Amino acid sequence: MCFKLRLKPLVMTSTVGQVIRCRAAVAWEAGKPLVMEEVEVAPPQANEVRVKILFTSLCHTDVYFWEAKGQNPLFPRIYGHEAGGIVESVGEGVTDLKPGDHVLPVFTGECKECAHCKSEESNMCDLLRINTDRGVMLNDGKSRFSINGKPIYHFVGTSTFSEYTVIHVGCLAKINPLAPLDKVCVLSCGISTGLGATLNVAKPAKGSTVAVFGLGAVGLAAAEGARIAGASRIIGVDLNSNRFEEAKKFGATEFVNPKDYNKPVQEVIAEMTNGGVDRSVECTGNIDAMISAFECVHDGWGVAVLVGVPHKDAVFKTHPMNLLNERTLKGTFFGNYKPRSDLPSVVEKYMSKELEVEKFITHTVPFSEINKAFEYMLRGEGLRCIIRMEE
Ligand code: NAD
Ligand code: ZN
Repeated sequence: MCFKLRLKPLVMTSTVGQVIRCRAAVAWEAGKPLVMEEVEVAPPQANEVRVKILFTSLCHTDVYFWEAKGQNPLFPRIYGHEAGGIVESVGEGVTDLKPGDHVLPVFTGECKECAHCKSEESNMCDLLRINTDRGVMLNDGKSRFSINGKPIYHFVGTSTFSEYTVIHVGCLAKINPLAPLDKVCVLSCGISTGLGATLNVAKPAKGSTVAVFGLGAVGLAAAEGARIAGASRIIGVDLNSNRFEEAKKFGATEFVNPKDYNKPVQEVIAEMTNGGVDRSVECTGNIDAMISAFECVHDGWGVAVLVGVPHKDAVFKTHPMNLLNERTLKGTFFGNYKPRSDLPSVVEKYMSKELEVEKFITHTVPFSEINKAFEYMLRGEGLRCIIRMEE
């Protein structure tokens, strides 16, 4: 036991500045199962960090770009962006992180220098904002992954389906080392998005009424935010009534399936709530749900927040009177959290037991069985599947 403990740090320091050979799940073609390969991971360059990933989970965005329907296909590629790991080594100029630090990679970044990073209101960093088309690192326009000299593309700057990955320092949140990475890894994308949409943007007052459209992981996190904020009624709206039972665990108190009514769901909600909800959060990506989410808020003070990513040709249509009657429409990206500045505090919400994360985790698989996680998601089973890198 003692021997093992002493060996670990030695192994870690000996890899600094060296190429690391490790396992990665490579997507060679759109929609085809990932293949476990031995890849070479180059050392981090300026402002980059090489991270040993311990746990990663699968999010819809990985599946969406792996299916590559309607976007530029970029293969071979290493997907993965919801994860937790430990810093192995840092490149030149990195002062915020050191080997051994616990980190959550984030698909969007915070350079701390651009106008957005300097604004208290924005988290849409100019330098490191999500870019799904770029498969290389910013520093030299090249990939840090290769197999026999052939480059393998990165995904959203994180590529966490690899035992080691290289990430820009601005896309890493340094978190409390006591936080269990097998749980808090899910906070690096979808859960924080939904939670932040409610807590940072909708901001429901204690005792208020909140409608959540779409009860996937993001919507359930939005409901969890409403529960934490002390909302008295949380109305879950979904086309799939199977989601309702699960949603109760996240604080939802009532349910509406738009398919059960022959009038618009915004009218149903207005009748249930004496004129409309105080806040609504849309987490479906469906344009009709977005419009309903806006039109179901109370005039005079209601605020609707859009989270879902719509179809590229979608158009939001509503009568301007709905806005003149003092309803507010907002949108949010990553729950308005600044990855480096704010994510550590979301982890602390979990540590202080204010935020419950376990209920989002419905499956766990070893890395070698990562394709099972894809199957669960494609079948719509469960919420989050944790992939543990150590078998
Ligand atoms: P999900 O597919 O698991 O859940 C979506 C739910 O919405 C499903 O249960 C579905 O039945 C329901 N739904 C679909 N159309 C509906 C309608 N018209 N009315 C009511 N319910 C409807 O997805 P998820 O992982 O929870 O993500 C939700 C959305 O959030 C997606 O669009 C995703 O792209 C987006 N997202 C946005 C951000 C951001 O920063 N803005 C970040 C992550 C995810
Ligand atoms: Zn920035």
